[in-house]
Amino acid sequence: MEILFLGVGEACDSAHGNCSALVTTGTRRILLDCGFSVPHRFFRICEDPDCLDYVWISHFHGDHFFGLPLLLLRFWEMGRTRPLQLIGQEDIAQTTYTTLELAYPGFTEKLSFPLQFHIVQPGTSLQLDTLHLQATQTIHSQCNYGLLVDDGRHRLYYSGDGRPTQQVRQLVHGCDLALHEAFTLEDTMPSHGSVSGCLQLMREAKVKQLALIHLERTTRRDQQGAIEQFLLQQPGLFLPVDGDIVHLE
Ligand SMILES: [Zn+2]
Ligand SMILES: [Zn+2]
Repeated sequence: MEILFLGVGEACDSAHGNCSALVTTGTRRILLDCGFSVPHRFFRICEDPDCLDYVWISHFHGDHFFGLPLLLLRFWEMGRTRPLQLIGQEDIAQTTYTTLELAYPGFTEKLSFPLQFHIVQPGTSLQLDTLHLQATQTIHSQCNYGLLVDDGRHRLYYSGDGRPTQQVRQLVHGCDLALHEAFTLEDTMPSHGSVSGCLQLMREAKVKQLALIHLERTTRRDQQGAIEQFLLQQPGLFLPVDGDIVHLE
């Protein structure tokens, strides 16, 4: 499994793209979230219109899904014909079409490839080809699902936004890599994760590696020393930047 960080930033971070990762496992590719800045970064590396199989949307905040219209527009322009499978919460189909129509009125009818939708509910699982997917709700200002992706060899968790719950701890237990939101250094915001909260989660749930993403931009810029102190406390805890790649062997 290969994980390419397309972005590691929060919504307003002009130095880092909105947090998103492109995961490749075997011949399958899944894009984890698609915020404002994601399509431009994605198409820097993608020249094949059929290169993407799945898109996961953790929740409907703009920095996690407002890139969808541009993603679909560019695939259309490139001549894509393969279905694209979108996975998310109950409203994923309706919200996708509404957003598409707002961005490019009339475009839905012109789409040259089918959109197929899958809903993942907490407590259930979804098997798509070789991928086994499970979701659980986090503590966020809007309903957000963290996603566990299991390809039979490795287990990857992507938090989207929000603080972890006891269910998150159970879901991520022993996983190979977690990409987790850490907006602040300590748990000072009720609906966001933190660096210290991620460290605690990693230890309690025996997560092998944890990438801190979605750091609040001034914290990332001004608190480098404090962040470094956290990283030194736990092997496997790291702060990726846009373009970093992790291989799980
Ligand atoms: Zn959010
Ligand atoms: Zn966000």
